[in-house]
Amino acid sequence: MAKILCVLYPDPQAGYPPKYIRDLQPSLKGPYAEELLSLPEKIRPSEAVVKHENEIYEAFLKEQKNQLLGCVSGKLGLEKWCKDNGHELIVVSDKDGKDSDFDKYLPEADVFITQPFWPAYLTKERIQKAKNLKIAITAGIGSDHVDLKAAAEAGISVVEATGSNSISVAEHIVMMALSLVRNYLPAHALARNGVWNIADCVSRSYDLANMRFGAVGSGRIGYAVLKRMKAFGCELHYTQRHRLPEAVEKELGLTFHKTPEEMAPHMDIISAHIPLYPQTRNLFNEAFFAKVNHGTYFINCARGELVDMDALKKAQEEGKIAAYAGDVWFPQPAPADHPWRTMPFNGMTPHMSGTSLSAQARYISITHEMLKNFLAGKPIPEDYYIVKGDQLSGTGAQSYKL
Ligand code: NDP
Repeated sequence: MAKILCVLYPDPQAGYPPKYIRDLQPSLKGPYAEELLSLPEKIRPSEAVVKHENEIYEAFLKEQKNQLLGCVSGKLGLEKWCKDNGHELIVVSDKDGKDSDFDKYLPEADVFITQPFWPAYLTKERIQKAKNLKIAITAGIGSDHVDLKAAAEAGISVVEATGSNSISVAEHIVMMALSLVRNYLPAHALARNGVWNIADCVSRSYDLANMRFGAVGSGRIGYAVLKRMKAFGCELHYTQRHRLPEAVEKELGLTFHKTPEEMAPHMDIISAHIPLYPQTRNLFNEAFFAKVNHGTYFINCARGELVDMDALKKAQEEGKIAAYAGDVWFPQPAPADHPWRTMPFNGMTPHMSGTSLSAQARYISITHEMLKNFLAGKPIPEDYYIVKGDQLSGTGAQSYKL
C-alpha cells in the first residue's frame, strides 16, 4: 500500500461539480496524433508511443467522461482506483507557508503529484523531510517546481506527461497573439461598458498578416505555434541552441537566429517556449528588452521566472513593449498586487493554457499510466523521465541542467 499525496488547485468558487457546457470530449485520434508524429525528429514520439497514448486516452475518456479532474474534488480521477487497490490518497491544495497541508503530509508520502498550474514547490528543505518519497509526478509539463538537483541527490525520480498539453498551450499563444495585435481585450471592455467609440478600439489595432513572429524555443510547443502562425501569413523566425533540420526550416519558411538578442530587433511579436532552469532564469532582462523594436508584442506561456518582472514593466512604460500576455507567473498563485495583473495593455490569464478539459484528459491519463506502472514495478517510458536515479534522464536530459 502506498501513500499518494496530490497537491491540486482548489475547486470552482461556485462549487464542485460544475455544470459542463458540452457533453463530448474531442477524440485524440486523427489530427492531434498526426501532429505529434510530424514533429521534428529530436522530439518526435515513436508511432508505438502515440498509439499507446491514444489507447489509454480513449479508455480514460470512456471511464471518466468529460470532467474537471485537476481540482481538489476531481482528485485527478484517482479516488476509485486507489480505493480498489488499497492505496491511501491524500488530496490538498494548501501548499505555501510553514504549516501548510503539503508540509504536513509530505513526510509520510511515497508518491507526490502536483501540477504546474498550482505548483507545490518541492524545495531542497522539503526533500530532506520527505524520507519516504520515491517519485514526484508532474501532472502536466515543466518540472521546475522541483529542486531537481536535490531530488537526484536523494534518489527521487521525477517524471512528467511529456507532450500531453503542448497543442493546448500553442492554441492559447495564438489566441494571445491575435488578441494583443488586434486590441481585442480593450475593445471588448468598451463594448461591455456600453461604449461605441470605434476610434478608441482601432487606434492600437493591426493585422497579424505580414508581421514578423519570433519563437524563442521551437520544441513541442514552439513548433506547434510556428505551424499555426504560418496560416496567418506571418514571417516566421526562431532561435534555440540547436538549429532545426534544413527540411523543417524550409517547410515553414523559418529564419534562424543564434540568440534571442540577435533575433529581437527584427521582430514584431516575440513568444517564449523554453524550459526554466538556472541558465534561463531572467533570460528576458533589461539587456534583452533594450534590443527589441519600439512597439513589440511579447508573449510568455512558458515560465514566469524567464522574465525579469521589473525590466518588463519598464520596457512597457518606455513603449518598447506594446502589450504583454502570458499565463505564467512567479510565484503561483501570483499575489493580488503583482504588477503584471494591472500593467496597461496586458492580456494575462492565470496559469490555465495547459489544463483545458481537453488537456486534462490527456495529461491525467498519462499520469495514471506513470503512477500505475511505478507502483507495479513496471518501466515508465523514458520520454516521461526528468530525473532517474541520481541524474537527469529522458526529456530531463534534453531540457534541464542541474
Ligand atoms: P520542449 O523540450 O519540447 O522544447 C523546449 C525548446 O526550448 C527546445 O526546442 C530547446 O531547444 C529550447 N531551449 C532550451 N533551452 C534553451 C535556451 N537556453 N535558449 C534557447 N532555446 C532553448 O518543451 P515544450 O515545448 O514541451 O515546453 C516548453 C516549456 O513550456 C516547458 O518547459 C514548460 O516550462 C512550459 N509549459 C507551459 C505550459 C502551460 O500550461 N503554460 C504547459 C506545458 C509546458 P535547444 O535544446 O536546441 O535549445
